Order: sequence, then C-alpha cells, then structure tokens
Amino acid sequence: MIVKTRIYRLKPDETMTQVLDDWCNYRRYCWNHALALWQDLYMAHNIFDKVVATTFIPKQNKKTKKWHMTYQDHHLNPSPNWRLVRDLMVEQKEEWQYAYSARTLQLAVQDLGKAWQNFFNKAQPDWGKPKFCSKKNSRQGFKTDRAKIKNGLLWLEMPKETPYKDHWTGIKLSEKPLSDKIGVVSIFKVNRKYYASVPYKLEKTLPKAKTGKGTGIDINVGHFNYQDGQCLVLPQSLRKLYAKIKFYQKCLAKKRTINGIIKGTQSNKYLRTKAKLQACYERVSNIQHDLMHKFTTKMVNDYDQIVIESLNVKGMLMSHVASKGMHRSMFGLFKQLLAYKCKWYDKELILANKLYPSTQRCAVCGMVKKGNEKITLRGNHKYGTKHNEYVCHNPNCPNYGQVVDRDENAMKNLTLLISHPELNKAL
Ligand SMILES: [Zn+2]
Repeated sequence: MIVKTRIYRLKPDETMTQVLDDWCNYRRYCWNHALALWQDLYMAHNIFDKVVATTFIPKQNKKTKKWHMTYQDHHLNPSPNWRLVRDLMVEQKEEWQYAYSARTLQLAVQDLGKAWQNFFNKAQPDWGKPKFCSKKNSRQGFKTDRAKIKNGLLWLEMPKETPYKDHWTGIKLSEKPLSDKIGVVSIFKVNRKYYASVPYKLEKTLPKAKTGKGTGIDINVGHFNYQDGQCLVLPQSLRKLYAKIKFYQKCLAKKRTINGIIKGTQSNKYLRTKAKLQACYERVSNIQHDLMHKFTTKMVNDYDQIVIESLNVKGMLMSHVASKGMHRSMFGLFKQLLAYKCKWYDKELILANKLYPSTQRCAVCGMVKKGNEKITLRGNHKYGTKHNEYVCHNPNCPNYGQVVDRDENAMKNLTLLISHPELNKAL
C-alpha cells in the first residue's frame, strides 16, 4: 500500500461554503483555546506545584552489588499532553459547540501536541513555539477524518445539531477522485478559494520500465542540466510575473503610509492591489508546480538512476533573480517531487555529498580546483574565466585549456557518482 495525495479545488454551494467557513473558524477557536489552556497547565506544572512528594527507592548496583537509595519526584500537576488538554476541553464544552464535529476539536488538539513536540525536539532547532492563529491569516483550514467520497463528491460528516441539516450536500471536486479509500482530509481556504488535500490509500503502482540509463541533474538559477539536455525553469511568463509582483509590492508599500504615517490598510485601492498581488503569487505557484511535475516525471521515465546535490548551494547564493524567495522554493519542490516519484516507480535517487566538489572538479581528469583557482559565481579572476565556463589547467588533461560549459561539467561530475560511488564516500 502506498499513499498518494491529491489537492483539489472545491466547488461548494452556498450552504456548504458557509459550513466550510464556520468549520475553519471553529478549528481556529479550538486551537487557540487549547494553546491557552496548555500554557496555563505548563505554568501550573512549573511554578505552583513543584514537588509534592519524594519517594525513596532502594536500588542495587549491578557491578559492585552495593545497595543505594534513589529517589523519584512526584508532581501534583502532570506536564500537559494532548489527551489531558482534550479531556479538559471536552469537559468544558458549551452548548453551541455541539453544532460542530467533535473530530475538529480532537484533531486540532492533536496537531497542537505535535507542534509542541516539534518545538521541543532538539534535532529540529528551527521549529518555533506554537502560535495563536489569527483570523487575518491568509490561509485558514481544518482537518477531518470522517469525510467520505461518494459518487465522486466529497461529503463532510454532518454533526447532529447543525442548522444546515436540510441543505447538507456533497462538495464537487475539480477532478474525478482516484478511489473512495481516503485518510485524513485537510481542507483549506486561500484567497476565498477552497481546496482539499485528499490522501488516497492505493495499491503499489507498477514500476516504470527500466531504461538502463542514469543522469546527474545540476540545478541552476534559470535552468536544470541533465544528461541529454536542459530544462528551462525561468520561462518568460515567470519573469513577467516576478516583475509584476515587484511592482505591486512597491505600490502596496507606498499606500501603507500616507505622509509618513502608517495608515490602516483597508482602503479599497489597497485591497484591490493586494488581490492582484495574491493572484500573481498563485499563478507563479501554478506555473512552477506544472514545470516541476512535468520535468520530474520525464526524469523518472527516462532514467534509472538520478544524482542530485543534497544541498543546493548555488540556489542559496543566487542574488540577481527577482523574487528569489519564490524561485528558491522551486528547488525544494523539485527535490520533494523527485524523491517520492523515484520511490513510487522503483528508481534510484542518489544524493551527492554536500562536500562533493561538483563545480570545481574536472569531469575528464578528476583534478579539483583549489585556492585562488576556484570557480565562483563570477568565474575565476586569476585566469579570467567567465561565470558560465570551466577551464582545466592540468597539463596532463586531454581537455587542457579548453573552455567547457560550467554547468555541463558539474552535471557530468554528478553523473559520475553512479559508476563511481566511492567518490561520494571519500569525503
Ligand atoms: Zn582536466
């Protein structure tokens, strides 16, 4: 069994739109209440009831066979966990809350538990503390594990005491669903549009036919190089959108202050420009997804082994691309898509060591450039190499003094890892 997740645009009717909005709000209410309660419980745990009892337990040392006393502290207030918080919240439930699915509350508290766990996990130092949700956030949503797919429609579980009882309908999906065996559906709302992310439980797909070929993929700002060509990832349409986004951002920044005073951002002009900006963001994301899906599918179709860099240094260094944050997000998306597609179709994904000198190494003789011979984003100062060139200065190399494409060279170095895996480990 594998899980495949699809995201659909939802087309709810008037009643169901109201229901979706209500549930988004209710989820936010649950989350915020649970978070406040959780924080109170922590306070109580840490400050008021320190240690109420200490039990002494005799223990024998395994080596010396000597007995000694150990002790255990007992807290009156246990440290909060999601079950405790959920139980307290269910106890305090008010009349109006019965109009909503009890699962919304449960799943919200469970998510909060995970958020705290991530926050305390030392292996993930970047996770922040769980935050309160605001209704001003551009993205709202909730999860449900009781949704069903019937006759191609998505049906939410109807709570017993809902005012919409007579008008409860299934919600149309933008595409035909794959099957009716689904997991926890998460529904979200962005820019007044509704989406559902539906995980399907499917039988394992058949592996793609083997082609006997492998490739390295060198990731660059405007193009991805692979064995038999390159994929342009910054088409004219994206460039235009980036320019537009820059323009709208400037407009908004100007409108935010009037005569140097920060004004409310609710004027009609401001909101109109904001809507245009958000539409641009959406189109960028759609174009990027489309590009990356097509490219990764082509890769798993054409090659058995694929080598990519585990850390995208070039992507992080780029500075001359407009809206680099958005463009950077594309690299993450690329890796994510490639990783799961390789897994689905039984293809091998090889991650090059982050210290593997794919840019500095000569793909023909294997010499690695060092010190002031190194190639930077601007080329090499000592030899006057241009930013997109690679020149080998090893006199014994058959390619001595010849100008080759920098990205092509890097791609060949990556491809080499398929036949010479020891190069990846030597570092
Ligand atoms: Zn060489």
